[in-house]
Amino acid sequence: MNVLVINAGSSSLKYQLMDPDTGIVLAKGLCERIGIDGKFTYKPQVEGKEALKAVDVSMPTHSEAIQTVLSALVDRKNGVIGSMKEIDAVGHRVVHGGEAFNQSVRITDEVMKAIEDCIPLAPLHNPANITGIRACEKVMPGVPMVAVFDTAFHQTMPAKAFTYALPYEYYKNDKVRRYGFHGTSHKYVSGRAAAMLKKPAEELKIITCHLGNGSSVTAVDGGKSVDTSMGFTPLAGLPMGTRSGDLDAGILQFLMNKYKLSIDEMLNILNKKSGVEGVSGVSSDFRDLEEAAEKGNERAALAVDMFNYGVKKLIGAYAAAMGGVDAIVFTAGVGENSVSQRLEIASGLEFMGVKMDAAANNCRGRETVISAADSKVKVLLIPTDEELMIARDTAALCK
Ligand code: AMP
Repeated sequence: MNVLVINAGSSSLKYQLMDPDTGIVLAKGLCERIGIDGKFTYKPQVEGKEALKAVDVSMPTHSEAIQTVLSALVDRKNGVIGSMKEIDAVGHRVVHGGEAFNQSVRITDEVMKAIEDCIPLAPLHNPANITGIRACEKVMPGVPMVAVFDTAFHQTMPAKAFTYALPYEYYKNDKVRRYGFHGTSHKYVSGRAAAMLKKPAEELKIITCHLGNGSSVTAVDGGKSVDTSMGFTPLAGLPMGTRSGDLDAGILQFLMNKYKLSIDEMLNILNKKSGVEGVSGVSSDFRDLEEAAEKGNERAALAVDMFNYGVKKLIGAYAAAMGGVDAIVFTAGVGENSVSQRLEIASGLEFMGVKMDAAANNCRGRETVISAADSKVKVLLIPTDEELMIARDTAALCK
């Protein structure tokens, strides 16, 4: 079976064609600048096939983008399948499923309506995801489609974890609550952690740290998300590349009054000019920050310290919330690659049974136990694979 995984943004579309049973990827790539001029990247993963890198292709809408993807996949010379008939299903990443979806679903008219109803909760992302689905329906009529939501895995959180201490009507009437994001990643790595530990997920308390440009930490108790650091929007929780993470809402009033900022200008600062980039004044990329810190840049060092400290505090909080922890997982760009940040985050947690193995930790990008053999809490490096998770959910609903 072949599943086409689609992650549609407002002017971009990532795709991957894979076999969900083996995890083998046939081809992947990216359409960029949709609606502007159109750049197309195609990376076949099959021996002897040639890649295309950011070539100019006219893509006025997402429909032309999907059409371009399909043409490349079936291309006589460099394609990886004989015809479109070899695409059995399409899995779409959808950012927000609100309270309507606690798992992936086959897309129907009713489901589309429910995804549209979630637009006020994710005004930038859901419309783009919907556009991607509609484009696929147009270009690939009759092919089963599945929606996989970033929020779904966190729908198991109890009310005490998802309710904000605001007047209750804002939850009842307006659905203002913690939703959490990166759910597909947290679900995937917590499942892999159980497999690595050779124990049923139901018997494990796991803290998954998805640390990338966007970052979130999740408490997974018995295979279910019971708390997570992102909130009503992905702006909450840890300081991120350019997002502030949690802060005192009183700061908004103070800064908006002082600098005569509109709420949109303020939110733009919180989303795009804050986080480790805002603090360091150097970069949102942790590699640049590490380099700058090594050269003595104190603000870069402070930004990395703040981030690591934030992750450490969440690990402590979630261990307390679950009454213990069996494993801590590091994933995503920073979690998979930064030897020093993993060590920094996990050091000082010896009191709760975490003991790192510095030599084992000195690795990147492959599933590894990075705690010492006698560490009560296992620490694991697990590369995330959201596309595989989406492909598997899609296959399960389409077989
Ligand atoms: P992601 O959002 O998961 O793609 O992660 C992207 C982020 O991972 C980048 O912004 C970098 O800050 C970080 N990253 C990638 N490689 C490394 C590395 N070798 N060391 C530290 N950070 C890294």
